Amino acid sequence: MVGILAVQGAFIEHAHCLEQLSQDYVLLRKKSDIPQNLERLILPGGESTVQRKLLHELDLFSVLKNKILEDMPVFGTCAGLILLAEQIAEESTNGFQSLPVLVRRNAYGRQLGSFSEEGTVGEFSGFPMRFIRAPYIEKILHPDVQILNLTENHITAVKYKNQMGTAFHPELTDDLRIHKLFLAL
Ligand code: GLN
Repeated sequence: MVGILAVQGAFIEHAHCLEQLSQDYVLLRKKSDIPQNLERLILPGGESTVQRKLLHELDLFSVLKNKILEDMPVFGTCAGLILLAEQIAEESTNGFQSLPVLVRRNAYGRQLGSFSEEGTVGEFSGFPMRFIRAPYIEKILHPDVQILNLTENHITAVKYKNQMGTAFHPELTDDLRIHKLFLAL
């Protein structure tokens, strides 16, 4: 079963992508929503500080962190990427810290708060990338982290073991290739 963290942010858009792929999912709002057979997790965009706080307050954090450390496939978009990052520039984090990258929040500055680009993401060319007050990855902290995209010379998508993170929002486009890739991990 695929779980979508649904405490805050753009979780419903991920749910719609999974529906289009005929994939069952469960929305995770509290600890008792976590099914026994959880085998994949999506961490949506939104506000990472709020999501982090709620993950701890709603007692979802440790169960999910343990599963991620046991190599359950996880896909974080934007705030979700921030939740996975081992380090955040100029901030401390009590997120999952399972993805060995250093991210910088709101990194594209104010005027460029929101923008769209088309680019190559891993093996996918012409992928529509929508950035909304996006972070970027400033530093890779482990040699096994694969870079899937560079936009304006910054790393915006990575894969490491069973973890994928994008600074942009594939769930806000109708291109399902990254979701498909995630479901095949
Ligand atoms: N700016 C948000 C944060 O730092 C992320 C934005 C997003 O998820 N679209 O948490």
